Amino acid sequence: SDIGLQRDRVVTEEEWLHKWEMGDIGFHKEQRHPLLQQYLDVLLNGRSGLRIFFPLCGKAVEMKWLADLGHSVVGVEVSEEALKEFFAEHSLPYSEEPVPEIPGAKVLQSTSGDISLYCCSIYDLSSSIVGQFDAVWDRGALVAVNPCDRQRYVSLMITLMDKNSSYLLVTVSYDPNKHKGPPFYVPESEIKSLFG
Ligand code: SAH
Repeated sequence: SDIGLQRDRVVTEEEWLHKWEMGDIGFHKEQRHPLLQQYLDVLLNGRSGLRIFFPLCGKAVEMKWLADLGHSVVGVEVSEEALKEFFAEHSLPYSEEPVPEIPGAKVLQSTSGDISLYCCSIYDLSSSIVGQFDAVWDRGALVAVNPCDRQRYVSLMITLMDKNSSYLLVTVSYDPNKHKGPPFYVPESEIKSLFG
């Protein structure tokens, strides 16, 4: 297949936590993503005060930027360390609450209320817990999901989208035989069949 050996690769949650512990987080960028700046108008589509979802959010700096623009941001991330670093690096006070529907999960919410970050696996979320979103910023998310979980991930994302929502997806194109991922190579044909 055109995705080579990547189809069977699995990165466990423990491996992700270990990357955060070791500071092995080359995917994190201090600057806002140029493609989000370029396509922000497309994402917003003339609307203001949106609910914007960041799947597999890490400590993405764009969450602070969009909240400052008046949107409300929800993220999900397995690494609590990542989320704590996010609030610390932006000097944002926050509170921590358990999530009654998800054993062991918590939600870290900025005191101003416009950023809520769930510390759990994305597969634990559902629209009855987080509601639906007007917009999704998917960078380092679909491409970080294990290839065997892609359909499950996309099916979940579709249930989290309001009917008028917009979804910006960033992927990377390269020869999947030369790098084991993540980020994984997700061919455009697969994106089309996943999202329909
Ligand atoms: N989107 C972020 C981070 C990309 S790296 C950015 O642009 O910087 C992928 C992140 O997903 C890592 O921080 C990892 O800890 C997290 N992650 C991996 N599997 C996850 C899962 N099942 N649920 C939630 N977060 C997950």
